[in-house]
Amino acid sequence: MSGEAVRFEPGEAFARRMDAEDPLRSFREEFLFPVHGDGHELYLLGNSLGLQPRKAKEYVLAAMEDWARLGVDGHFKGSPPWMEFHVPLGEQMARVVGARPEEVVVMNTLTVNLHLMMVSFYRPTPERSKILMEASAFPSDQYAVAAQVRHHGYAPERTVIPLAPRPGEETLRHEDILEALERHGKEIALVLLGNVNYLTGQAFDMAAITRAAHRQGCRVGFDLAHAAGNLKLSLHEDGPDFAVWCSYKYLNGGPGALGGVFIHERHLRDASLHRLPGWWGNDRRTRFQMKPDFEPAPGAEGWVLSNPPIIQMAALRASLELFDRATMPALRAKSEKLTGYLEFLIDRLPEGFVRSLTPRDPGQRGAHLSLRFTKDPQRMLETLRAEGIHCDFRYPDIIRAAPVPLYNSFLDVHRFVSVLERYARG
Ligand SMILES: *Cc1c(COP(=O)(O)O)cnc(C)c1O
Repeated sequence: MSGEAVRFEPGEAFARRMDAEDPLRSFREEFLFPVHGDGHELYLLGNSLGLQPRKAKEYVLAAMEDWARLGVDGHFKGSPPWMEFHVPLGEQMARVVGARPEEVVVMNTLTVNLHLMMVSFYRPTPERSKILMEASAFPSDQYAVAAQVRHHGYAPERTVIPLAPRPGEETLRHEDILEALERHGKEIALVLLGNVNYLTGQAFDMAAITRAAHRQGCRVGFDLAHAAGNLKLSLHEDGPDFAVWCSYKYLNGGPGALGGVFIHERHLRDASLHRLPGWWGNDRRTRFQMKPDFEPAPGAEGWVLSNPPIIQMAALRASLELFDRATMPALRAKSEKLTGYLEFLIDRLPEGFVRSLTPRDPGQRGAHLSLRFTKDPQRMLETLRAEGIHCDFRYPDIIRAAPVPLYNSFLDVHRFVSVLERYARG
């Protein structure tokens, strides 16, 4: 799945040439960068909180204006009307993750959605109660899983099967995941993987894992917090039962932005699935008849609980329009080059100074590299901050650097590694 091979060169002139040839270079102008001194930061943190698209403020203010001018009539007369505000967002989001529009809905936030999806897709029985997940899953996912397990009367320590790398290794081997499925498959109710793993940057083969899990009769869900807007996903074809993600990381929806949910088509008309419903998930045709019995809307919309927050949606709209213009295949092609270039420059740093934990195969990673440093990582982070370089630090020694293809440049990557190099040699 890797893009065309590029022969990287160490000099700054190469970075400038790559930027000049980059068909997506103008998207950088669509974003607001945090200030640093008289200029702006070199921001490598799009995997944590994406930057603000210039248009976001305009769209948010327009929604505020509609509310002021129209009051409740904004539902029908806003531009766009609030009743339909979520429809194009769902369609745009579906394009980002490779799903059919009816399979995707934008609602709530990630952890809430993970709970809601587990209500529908984690239905343990005494014979099949287990959950297979990464030992290093994001804490919120671990808390949610343990609570759902307890909710059904099972003990997490006997029910959750943690997948860990082999001793001395940093990432999971694909064959070990398949082997765990072979070994425990008949007891597993749900396979839940974070794709991309937030800590190591490892991406999994979603299609192969889903196929293997389905052969064993398990349900499969993915947490795509670090994949949505990063990897080129094909959720419909790969076929997991559900996926959840947030849109404040690579999707630039703003702090606390609405999350996304995918439910595979095969489940959309199954009225027997348990769910925690609300009035906004009722079929639109009968919603306002206010009947006592819930009639789910066809599609993932049938899982929506509440009337949606328009102001949050307005901010997200600005970013999703950019994804539609840039397209995921083009973004991914640039991303593989950008991250490959970062790896190339990191490899040239003095021996023993830094080691990347992230797989070297571009097909097994997204934009970010997790870098483990030996030489006083805390002081190095301070050096980076003083230079206006913003990346993420995981105590005690890991820096995660994410060059994101929408707004980072090859020159950004070159500048970042130049500062590391000066520190390594200083
Ligand atoms: C960022 C992230 C979350 C955060 O959850 P919220 O409910 O959006 O606060 C959860 N899981 C993973 C894997 C993440 O990367």
